[in-house]
Amino acid sequence: MPIVTTRSIVLQTHAYSDTSKILRLLTMDHGPQSVMARGALRPRSRLSGLLEPFAEGAATFYLKPDRDLHTLSGFDLVCERQALGRDLKRYAAASVLCELVLRLAPVEHDPELFHALTTGLDSLMSVEAVAVSGTAVAAAWTLVDVLGFAPDLGGCARCGDPLVERGGRLDVREGSLVCDQCLPPGAVLPADEIRTLREVASGQPGGEALSSRQIHILVEFIRHHAAEGIRLRSLDFLLLEEAR
Ligand SMILES: [Zn+2]
Repeated sequence: MPIVTTRSIVLQTHAYSDTSKILRLLTMDHGPQSVMARGALRPRSRLSGLLEPFAEGAATFYLKPDRDLHTLSGFDLVCERQALGRDLKRYAAASVLCELVLRLAPVEHDPELFHALTTGLDSLMSVEAVAVSGTAVAAAWTLVDVLGFAPDLGGCARCGDPLVERGGRLDVREGSLVCDQCLPPGAVLPADEIRTLREVASGQPGGEALSSRQIHILVEFIRHHAAEGIRLRSLDFLLLEEAR
């Protein structure tokens, strides 16, 4: 059984017994992996307090090719990100990103996905309180794009209008934009909102620029298209907070 050391982000943790924990990790070199941290809940464990969600470090574990659960032997902390756990909204936002990765990440390693997640988590730590939701949705959008579920924002999917001047709609089911002429009247995205969506989708931070309506549109898209209707609990929480 090979022992491997790889940069990892803790996505989720569960207590397994009074003393041990199971961690879901996104690793740089081996994709998503589950590891058992024996004794991590003992107060004197050298792993005690290190293995919390969003923490990043070099994880060493025994990788058994035909097993789903591996044994963690060490974790050299690089970044704890505990500030995310001290603020309910930031915690929910960071959980959205981790939940998306948990549900949608391919089994292969994907350095671009790893980078997108660390960038998203770091931006949630530093952003102003008012921009947490917008930043979360922008980061979730980037993850969705890296995971291959991004919508086509190029222009109207029916007539090809580039939608620079005219408004349109994001067709959540089709994952594309449709202009206001090709769809019956209804809630329309003005051209400037389409521009903001494109900026966010192309990886520009733009979190502050998102209106709560745009946040709802992006969240609906993620929910229906990327998460295939699965309810992401942390996403619901974020929307409730936004509506206040
Ligand atoms: Zn059209």
